[in-house]
Amino acid sequence: MQPKLFDIHCHLDFSEFDKDREEVIKRALSNGIGMVNVGTDYESSKKAIELAEKYEHVYATVGLHPHSIHLGVKPPSECPSIPKLKALAKHPKVVGIGECGLDYKFQDTRNNNQTNINLQKSIFKQQIELALEVNKPLMIHCRDAHEDLLAILSTYYSLHSTRLQGNLHFFSGTWEEAQKYFDLGFSISFAGPVTYDVGRITDIVSRAPINKIMIETDSPFAAPAPFRGQRNEPFYVQEIAKKIAQIKNLTYEEICKITTKNALKIFINNVNI
Ligand SMILES: [Zn+2]
Repeated sequence: MQPKLFDIHCHLDFSEFDKDREEVIKRALSNGIGMVNVGTDYESSKKAIELAEKYEHVYATVGLHPHSIHLGVKPPSECPSIPKLKALAKHPKVVGIGECGLDYKFQDTRNNNQTNINLQKSIFKQQIELALEVNKPLMIHCRDAHEDLLAILSTYYSLHSTRLQGNLHFFSGTWEEAQKYFDLGFSISFAGPVTYDVGRITDIVSRAPINKIMIETDSPFAAPAPFRGQRNEPFYVQEIAKKIAQIKNLTYEEICKITTKNALKIFINNVNI
């Protein structure tokens, strides 16, 4: 049976779940919640695939998170992880490339700021090329870098408009930026903060086209109310769905149905499984 909800971005391979990973996954699945485990480097991507192989309705993405770029790579040389990720990317349960993107809030003291920015951009572009090559959507992380990220996506869009696709996870930009992502064919997803936000995120949720939004937990981080401050897990994605239903003035069932349809369209059924 098809899940009633999809947590499209979680990290159950992280050590926070070492003691009860199976229980956490089963708690979600037995309540009709499917999930996408998002890889953040080569090892984590491999573990995400292992989990996806074990359970129905559990999928994986493979990628190199901007926080994981500390491999002594100097742009523009090719990152050694990319060819390894490419081998994983072809796995039938891999539904996207990422977590990749730009994070200018992240301070890596090993390099100066400009070197970090150049490195992040170079590795992000390599992952966009990988996504185009294997024909899978991007799972993008972006903090304080929307202008540069939009510029990079626009360049690729002008060359590959119909094939470039993906989602901005834990969306943190403005409404104007959200519109620019929609124009490039991208969707955005919302996590726990929507349950305790009183302004900016609520406003974006209320204005965003319903076929462009999805729901995620980003477990183990950012648990929604009433679990704020605790370890997050996919089961709690229901709280985020409830809040989005309230903002959108739709029923909980309607939000489940629509966001699941979007997740299936953008990630799960988008690749040849
Ligand atoms: Zn993440």
